[in-house]
Amino acid sequence: MSKTQYFPKIDRSHKKDFKPISVPERLLLGPGPSNSHPDVLRAIAQPPIGHLDPYYIDLMGEVQDLLRYVWQTDNRLTLPMSGTGSSAMEATFANCIEAGEKVLVAINGYFGNRMADMASRYRAEVVTFEKEWGEAFSLAEVEEALATHRPVILAMVHAETSTGVCQPMDGIGDLCRKYDCLLLLDTVTSLGGVPLFLDKWKIDLAYSCSQKGLSCPPGLGPFTMGPRAEAKLSNRAGKVPNWYLDVSLLNQYWGSDRVYHHTAPVNMNFGMREALRLLAEEGIENAWERHRKNAYKLWNGLERLGLVLHVPEDLRLPTLTTVVIPDGVNGKAFSSHLLKKYGVEIGGGLGSLAGKVWRIGLMGYNATPENVEYLLNLFDSELPSFRETLSSSA
Ligand code: PLP
Repeated sequence: MSKTQYFPKIDRSHKKDFKPISVPERLLLGPGPSNSHPDVLRAIAQPPIGHLDPYYIDLMGEVQDLLRYVWQTDNRLTLPMSGTGSSAMEATFANCIEAGEKVLVAINGYFGNRMADMASRYRAEVVTFEKEWGEAFSLAEVEEALATHRPVILAMVHAETSTGVCQPMDGIGDLCRKYDCLLLLDTVTSLGGVPLFLDKWKIDLAYSCSQKGLSCPPGLGPFTMGPRAEAKLSNRAGKVPNWYLDVSLLNQYWGSDRVYHHTAPVNMNFGMREALRLLAEEGIENAWERHRKNAYKLWNGLERLGLVLHVPEDLRLPTLTTVVIPDGVNGKAFSSHLLKKYGVEIGGGLGSLAGKVWRIGLMGYNATPENVEYLLNLFDSELPSFRETLSSSA
């Protein structure tokens, strides 16, 4: 049989002459992803093995233990979701909400809104309390909202990537126990870079991502659930309305049974394991200190250049700094210039801060004094011409 007889007629309209991939080198100093550690990239480039291979099973246990370490939790149900941070965010709501239950979301930025949207899709009765983008909630404000709404879950963002605010967590866990609700915390921009004490803070549910403080590419969403949330999951009247993110099914794979659920992205977990190993080798408290020191260096340098930071110092995130775009400067034109000419990425504002701030990330592998100096030099040498364009055209 000839080839033409065996195959039906081939449509060649999409077959173009593509070149082999060649990704440009970038220094990612925006809101994420951040650059991956070279050892992590080497781990991901290992040949894949089966997701039930004994070597991989051991590695899964290591990933879980290391996640418990960086989050400072003893939670049994701690695992990386196969998906980005949003998949782990969705897992918290999918597993712990039943239709009609009240979820209270604290909104002081873009990601609070995303949580409210997700909770509503699981048919929660969503109520919100809000602050300006750039402010944090006081304990009294949290208590007032809990007392007014009496929710089953309070959802908060620890590190608001849209604003650069770090939400102080002292006392909020106790309030949630007092008002008998679960405390859910988004730690996407804090894990690995900002002090986090999930058990001490009495957090019942939390999630994060791989691509920021952990120095991995995007693709995994660390998830953890404490005993109170586990009890809520066990007492559900109905099934979790999301098969892929159902933690009771996932735990049959991540727990001792090792029952197939989905084909795990094994190479991403090689990367995650290596990233977490590197963090443990550095010591999580040393990583937090490295982020803090480099953030101070960045803040002082930006202020010396006459720039204004959007968030008061006591609420600033070390991992994400919002810089007010000076009047009249086209912020997008400046960030495009840095990317095109120097391969350096910084972010623009989201939502109500769009066009008003730049967002500079110093996360994981990228939180170094060399990167801070390099970026400050670029602001020093390149920004004046963007101001000059303005004054000469005025
Ligand atoms: N929550 C916060 C605070 C984030 O910054 C992000 C993403 O940057 C997410 C959730 C969603 O994570 P992902 O984009 O990995 O899905």
